[in-house]
Amino acid sequence: MWNLKKPSLASIRSDLDILFPEGTGDGISEGDKLKVLELYDEYEEGLGEPDPGWKTRLLSNESRDLLLAAYGEVSDKGELSLLRAALKREAKKCPYCGFGEIRDLDHHLPKQHYKCFSVFALNLVPSCSKCNGHKPRTPPTARDKYHIHAYLDDVSGLNFLVADIEISDNALSVIFRIEKRRGMSDELTRRLKQHLKDFRLNERYVAQITNYLESQETGLDDNFKLGGAAGVRAYLLRTAESNRRTNGPNDWRGALVVALAESEEFCDGGFYDVLGFT
Ligand SMILES: [Zn+2]
Repeated sequence: MWNLKKPSLASIRSDLDILFPEGTGDGISEGDKLKVLELYDEYEEGLGEPDPGWKTRLLSNESRDLLLAAYGEVSDKGELSLLRAALKREAKKCPYCGFGEIRDLDHHLPKQHYKCFSVFALNLVPSCSKCNGHKPRTPPTARDKYHIHAYLDDVSGLNFLVADIEISDNALSVIFRIEKRRGMSDELTRRLKQHLKDFRLNERYVAQITNYLESQETGLDDNFKLGGAAGVRAYLLRTAESNRRTNGPNDWRGALVVALAESEEFCDGGFYDVLGFT
């Protein structure tokens, strides 16, 4: 969740040539292609943070519209199907929610606003359809609302996702939140909070939590019978560590399991009632 390996940019020039072959007289000229590459450089250097100047500088509106229309070729049967496949191959799960199946390519900077990056690999983030649908179509103007860039905002060295749990009448409720850690600016903290809000993660995790905990049933049961509450706690902490290695430090499952390990009630057999199994 949150970050994906940065894609190769080796084909960005040849991608433009495939879309707009030289010598055809229409499409984007050689001079404009160099300007597009200049904008790509600026995007990468600016970590994909929206610069309104990119909507008007260097390129004509006509060229921008051609780039926007060219995104149709970044489809399964389009001229840039290989680019689409290569980007999707790098993501096992949606980087925005951490559980959704990869179906779409989300434009980090929306293509209707930033047409010049419509086919730029760094602006194309593999995602699930729900996250793609929930993301606001208008890019935020306030810096503390900028979305986390899955390729360029490296947050993998921080540990900020925390779950708060409550058990009441044998029902488990979970709220995920962002905890400001040392080394995190106020701005980054607010951006991460905005991410939870925009992708409606707390609402969408409810069903996922049930599925996930059901998959832990045997492990919880076996460890309780062998070692009681301490056995369950140790099992949950081992599970959290294993999840951290697989899914990174800010995965919702890891945060959930750490919170459950801290609950005496859950570990001391409460999980049987909470999860509805005996
Ligand atoms: Zn998603």
